[in-house]
Parts: sequence; C-alpha cells; structure tokens
Amino acid sequence: MQTVASPCLFPLFLDLRGRRVLVIGGGTVAARKIASLLEANADVRVIASALEPALLALAAAKRITHVGSTFAASQLEDTWLVIAATDDAGLNRAVADAAHARQIWANVVDDAELASAQLPARVQRGPLQIAISSGGASPMLARHLREQLETQFDDAVGALAQLLAELRSRIRSRLPDLAIRRAFFSRVLAGPAQTLLRRGHSAAARHAVEAELSAQIGAARGSVALVGAGPGDPGLLTLRALRVLNEADVILHDRLVSADVLALARRDAERIEVGKRIGGNHDATQARIHALMIELATAGKRVVRLKGGDPFVFGRGGEELQALRAHGIDYEVVPGITAAVACAAYAGIPLTHREHAQSLRILTVQSKSGTAEHDWAALAQPQQTLAFYMGVGGLAHLRERLIAHGRAASTPFAIIENGSRSTQRVITGQLDALPDLAAAHAVQAPALLIVGEVAALAKPLHWFGTPPLSADDARCRTPTLAHAA
Ligand code: SAH
Repeated sequence: MQTVASPCLFPLFLDLRGRRVLVIGGGTVAARKIASLLEANADVRVIASALEPALLALAAAKRITHVGSTFAASQLEDTWLVIAATDDAGLNRAVADAAHARQIWANVVDDAELASAQLPARVQRGPLQIAISSGGASPMLARHLREQLETQFDDAVGALAQLLAELRSRIRSRLPDLAIRRAFFSRVLAGPAQTLLRRGHSAAARHAVEAELSAQIGAARGSVALVGAGPGDPGLLTLRALRVLNEADVILHDRLVSADVLALARRDAERIEVGKRIGGNHDATQARIHALMIELATAGKRVVRLKGGDPFVFGRGGEELQALRAHGIDYEVVPGITAAVACAAYAGIPLTHREHAQSLRILTVQSKSGTAEHDWAALAQPQQTLAFYMGVGGLAHLRERLIAHGRAASTPFAIIENGSRSTQRVITGQLDALPDLAAAHAVQAPALLIVGEVAALAKPLHWFGTPPLSADDARCRTPTLAHAA
C-alpha cells in the first residue's frame, strides 16, 4: 500500500490523572507539552540533560520529576504515553521505536510520520474542549481553524459546560429517558442560560437551567439585543455583535445598516427593515418599533435591534431600552463603532491631536424641531474637534453661527459621505465655503461633518478610498442642491 500523507486518525480524549507520562527533552517545546499534561494532572517524568528555567521551577515545586539525563528503554516501565520533544531526530526516533516495541503511544514533536499519537490544536472553554487535527496534512490549516473557533466561542460556553457538569447527576436522575433529556438540552441551549453567563449572572443562569429541569418554564423567554452594526464595513462589527446576530430569530434593522453586515446574520433569521424614511413621522415610526420589539420578545423570540453605528449615539437606543424595561423585557446592549470614530479613521483625521485638538464634541445639526441650537460661543473656541451627525442640511446656518461667534473662517472642515464603505467620499475645505462646497459636490446622506484644525490632516493622512475632494475639484462639476439628511 502507498503511504498517504494524511492517515485517518482516531480521536480520543485521555484521562491522564495520576498516570505516568514520560517526556524526553527539557527545552521550550517540551515545556509547552508539559504545561498541557499538568493541566490534565498527569504524573510527568522528564528525561533531559538540562531543564529550561520554567521546568526547573516545576521540578523544584515537585510538580514534575526529573528522572535522568539520558534516555534508556527501561525507563518506559509503567508509562502510558511518551513524548519525544528533543531537537535530536535520531534520539526522537529511538524513543518512538522503544515505546512502540512496548505498545506505548508515542508523540514525536514535529514528526507526524514517526508518531503514533498526535496532539491536536485545541480550543478550551472550561471543561469543554474542541480538538482539531489535519492528520498531519497541514498543521497550519488546523491552527487557522483553531483561531477561527477561538473567536466563535466565548467563555460563556465553558461556564455553561461547567454548570451542566454540576447539575449532571440531577439531570440524569430526573430525566432518565434519553429523548426527554435531549429535548431538555435543546431547550437549555436555546434559553437564556448562556446569555446570562456571558453577563456574569451565574446564579440566574443556574436558576434558568433548574427551572427548565423542573419544567416550570412554559414557553421560551424572548429577549432583545440592542446592537450597534458600525458604519458599514462589516469588518468593523464586534465579535459580540456577530455572535448575537448568529443567535437571532428576528432582526429589526435600520436603513443605515449595510447589506454586507446583514449578510453575516443567521440565514433563517427573519429580517424586518424598520428605518425611518425622510420626511416621515419619526415619532410614529419609533412607537411602532417599540411595539414590534415588545410583541416579538413577548412571543419568545430572540430579537436583535440592529442600528447603524452605536445604538447610544443619536440612535434612540435609550428610548428603546426604557420601553423594554417598562414591559419587563430582558435586554442587552452591544456597542458599535460610531460614525464619528469610523469616518475619522477612514478619512485619516485624528479626532484629537496634541497640536491641534484637545477635545472632541459629538453633535447633531438637526434636532427634533429642525436645526439644532448649540452653545455656539463654546463651539467657536479653537483647538477642538466638532463632529456633526445628520449634517447634510442646515450647513449655511452652522457656518454663520460658528463664524459669528468667532471661529476662524479658515477653520478646516471635512465631510465624509458613506464613511468606511467602498463608495466613501471625503470633501475638504474651509469653514466659510462649507455649504457651497457641500452643494457643489452634491453630498448625500449618510454624511458626517468634522470641523476643526484636525480636518486639514485628511489630505496628508489619506489612506482609504478616493483622495479627498476640495474647492478645485468642485469647479469641474455642475453645482446641485445638497439633499436633506
Ligand atoms: N447611531 C449612529 C448614528 C445615527 S444618526 C452612529 O453611532 O453612527 C445618522 C447619522 O449618522 C447620519 O446622518 C450621518 O451623519 C451619520 N452616519 C452614520 N453612518 C455613516 C457613514 N457610514 N458615513 C457617514 N456618516 C454616517
């Protein structure tokens, strides 16, 4: 038979507690293996001419036994597993041969051919372990997969495994029937326990599992996660947001949420666009959103309320939480990268800078009753950055107020349209030309306005998308009226 590079290995988890494992080698590779063996409470014996400092300390603390400096087959007596971790290929081979002659499993570091046992790449969460092997075909691929899995499972999975371990005998005696036990586990997994553990409410999580065990909970309890989707680039979504999107039954999203972000959500989740239309009655829309969230969560659904940017920055997230709280609905909040932070980053504009800006203000051009009024005298102070949201309309008023209160007419500004998206445009100029330039470039929503000395850095620090446009570029275009946000 031809030797194949990747034999089909048999996966097995070993109980090494108190069992003897012989490690040949005393360097860093051996130390790594020994650390995992000690986690499994193995009786570790080491053969090496010299031990690296960490191993010396373990030997001094009697956690491992240094049994000699040269390997002899007789040392394999009473051994369950051998790990050859020296940099001497000949010695590693001799160790493996001697072990195999006695039918003892041998792992040989960096030599899958010689080894009869391989150590997998693994992800550990409490008592739960996910082990990955490519059968020696590509350890790099296995490692890559491990990294992906690391991001997919948080500590709450481990905490859940630990909790279920603690309740195991009670679960078995109360639900002896396998099919009923399975149904119980799927209810627990779909239930709130894991989310509660993630938030550090271990007593409540235990209570939820116990209540399920005594079958006192009827229908599943729904919940709402208020999630920030970031400015559009799906790479700017947080890992927590991704997890919550993967668990959602229903996603209520704003128009501002990009299709690329929605594509990452659980495939069979229902998606409902609840965005507010231009010129529509925002309060009526908001009331409908509240009613919808409450209705869905009360019906036991896991609802994700997905908003552009961050839910607590001009996102009406506070009002939504107040409505949920008033109805006793369980909720959590997942922050997102807000437009000011994302647009500044993608336009190369540091929001603060030791030379140019010592503070940052987050503002809106528009308010409930039209153009927002601010403490213009305070905003007119130099050396501060102003980030205006919903800033496509009302720019003439803004320029007039700031200059009237003393901000220099030459203060740089930048408008970032579609920040972080492939369609991003940045328009730069000086405050006195702000409304005219926005009109000349026909700026569309969503756009964010940054006013302040730092905005001048958009040109020299440009790195993403097309270079910033300015007054010179505007001359070539037919001026159009700016659209309202
Ligand atoms: N909660 C959101 C803001 C919602 S208000 C956040 O934290 O970002 C909507 C305003 O946000 C838009 O009018 C615009 O000013 C700004 N905005 C949101 N996404 C943007 C983007 N990708 N590019 C530029 N501005 C954006």
